[in-house]
Amino acid sequence: MSEAKPLHEGLFNWPDPAAGLIGSRCLDCGEHAFPSQSSCRACSSQNTVLADLGSAGTLWTWTIQSFMPKAPYDTDETPETFTPYGVGYIELACGLKVESRLRENTPEQLNIGMPMKMELITVRQNEDGDELLTFQFCAAKESH
Ligand SMILES: [Zn+2]
Repeated sequence: MSEAKPLHEGLFNWPDPAAGLIGSRCLDCGEHAFPSQSSCRACSSQNTVLADLGSAGTLWTWTIQSFMPKAPYDTDETPETFTPYGVGYIELACGLKVESRLRENTPEQLNIGMPMKMELITVRQNEDGDELLTFQFCAAKESH
């Protein structure tokens, strides 16, 4: 039976993605990391723990990606069906900036500092028909 599952384990809470991204926090200096790291980038401490980073943030910077994504993020799209998509850095509540694909894909939809939220999208199906999921961010409020 096919099912939906994360493309990569450990990036976001599953099967309760509302809990958001999973990163790590250094117990010695408080530095956060995403994806989670076993040693702190700031102080080299090994004293890190997994931390829920939440599913909300603000748009720190962005660009429009006009090229097809490379493996392992390749999709079922072909050069004929590919449409450009947004890529940005989301500043999370803890202050960490996370690179993410964005649902919005035109400059008119994106403003630095706008509230963003995490959502899950299907990257592709594997050979068993399972839907492989990854996260992206989208505007927290629908624009009108
Ligand atoms: Zn540290």
